[in-house]
Amino acid sequence: MSSIATEVSRRRTFAIISHPDAGKTTLTEKLLLYAGAIQIAGSVKARKASRHATSDWMEIEKQRGISVASSVMQMEYRDCVVNLLDTPGHADFSEDTYRVLTAVDAALMVIDAAKGVEAQTLRLLEVCRARNTPIITFMNKMDREVRPPLELMDEIESILKLTATPFTWPIGMGKLFGGVADLRSNQMRVFKAGEDRRQDDVEIIEGLDNPLLKERFEDSYDQARSEMDLIRDASPEYDAPEFLSGRQTPVFFGSAVNNFGVREVLDALIDLAPPPGPKPAIQRVVEPTEPKFTGVVFKIQANMDPAHRDRIAFVRVASGRFEREMKLVVTRTGKAVRASSAVSFLSQRRDLLDEAFAGDILGIPNRGLLQLGDTITEGEDLQFTGLPFFAPELFHEVEVKDPLRFKQLRTGLQQLGEEGAIQVFRMALGGPLLLGAAGALQFEVVAHRLAHEYKAEARMQPSKYRMARWITSDLPGEVDRFIDANGHRVAYDVVEAPAVLLERPYDLKVLGDLWPNIKLHTLREHA
Ligand code: GDP
Repeated sequence: MSSIATEVSRRRTFAIISHPDAGKTTLTEKLLLYAGAIQIAGSVKARKASRHATSDWMEIEKQRGISVASSVMQMEYRDCVVNLLDTPGHADFSEDTYRVLTAVDAALMVIDAAKGVEAQTLRLLEVCRARNTPIITFMNKMDREVRPPLELMDEIESILKLTATPFTWPIGMGKLFGGVADLRSNQMRVFKAGEDRRQDDVEIIEGLDNPLLKERFEDSYDQARSEMDLIRDASPEYDAPEFLSGRQTPVFFGSAVNNFGVREVLDALIDLAPPPGPKPAIQRVVEPTEPKFTGVVFKIQANMDPAHRDRIAFVRVASGRFEREMKLVVTRTGKAVRASSAVSFLSQRRDLLDEAFAGDILGIPNRGLLQLGDTITEGEDLQFTGLPFFAPELFHEVEVKDPLRFKQLRTGLQQLGEEGAIQVFRMALGGPLLLGAAGALQFEVVAHRLAHEYKAEARMQPSKYRMARWITSDLPGEVDRFIDANGHRVAYDVVEAPAVLLERPYDLKVLGDLWPNIKLHTLREHA
């Protein structure tokens, strides 16, 4: 049995962040090719497709052509175990994405080189920045007519506020895309339109000053040559501490669909990205190499397998060695968790899992036992921090169409709330339940799921509220006094945390002046 420290050091856990259509699915497929997790590329898409076919509420995803659900893939590459966490791309599902990003140690940012930095890339990057997550950049679609590479580098610096340091540089683009110059090994890798296979037979030309390059790539080479000279003077050397603190990003150029430049980013993930690090809890900081198991629920997904009504809690292991025979507890409730039922995510199959270490993701099927943000331990009383809930910006009142289905509606909303699909608020003084979302599409998904999974048709209508702030105070009794005085606009969320609802931004200021000892939070960090 290898030591925990060895196992931790060979883990790499990351997510791909990108604007929809930049090429995340395609890149994922190609990454899996190298890891030997699957034989034929295309199966990531196939998996997407079969999910569509089997899961009712995914109809919405199909209709809109967006990726709502996330999943986890585990693969082995070189000597490492790589965990790739998929994130939904659509802006309305960003809350889910944010939470997935709390479970990774690095991110791979995919940019469509024809478009440059797009809105969703920026939003996701800001989440990564808040946690100092190291970012590796892949400039995709170089086989198309794209923006000048220098301009793309500029955008990373001016819009994303990251220092960009190129590891490769493209020679030509579109029809004239010749390949990439590897600035560190001083070689050129020649582009070949690719297929669904590993490209181990890439043509290499030694020396970036090799006259062969000029002969073959003519003007494209001259252009690239002068750009590389510019870049060498203008951009900083790779600096590991700067990268690891999320301030500098290594940049690679390539074409995912042609499987070109993909291996280099995977190698960079292994060589540059960090293994799992310490994780803060309220009580103390937990080291990944500690002998005892700890983990945190960062995502809950319903009905992944339509044959079961179970929900899967995704747990990121924070420390120790997970074993099947273990006795584990949810620290919030003290209830036991059946470790024997945990599954891993090796490629697309949900294999049963025997061992897991920090950085790995477990799937634990359960029926409401686990909530977002829950900490699981061998018994130690511990609560990890940092799983964000964002104050919603859109509110709908919800009522059941058929009063006889009221119970089903309540159950459905409680479960969807715990899952993080939507935020559910119960007004302190009663009345219809209030749903809070970050994007309007969330309401549609919830209405659809209520109807299909809980057989409760919901009637929703926009509420007068525009903002919510969770309330806390350091002053004993102050929260209760506040609630007594503001009962008409106080509500409780699924974990009974009180929040105040506001109609106008101005009300926030008034409230702040009236109640100086009440803290108003846009973020609730743990259950
Ligand atoms: P996602 O929405 O980020 O997952 O993007 P997809 O992987 O589904 O890709 C979006 C579209 O871009 C698809 O039609 C892909 O075939 C295409 N695409 C992805 N990578 C490349 C590339 O390197 N070159 C070209 N020309 N098209 C690409």
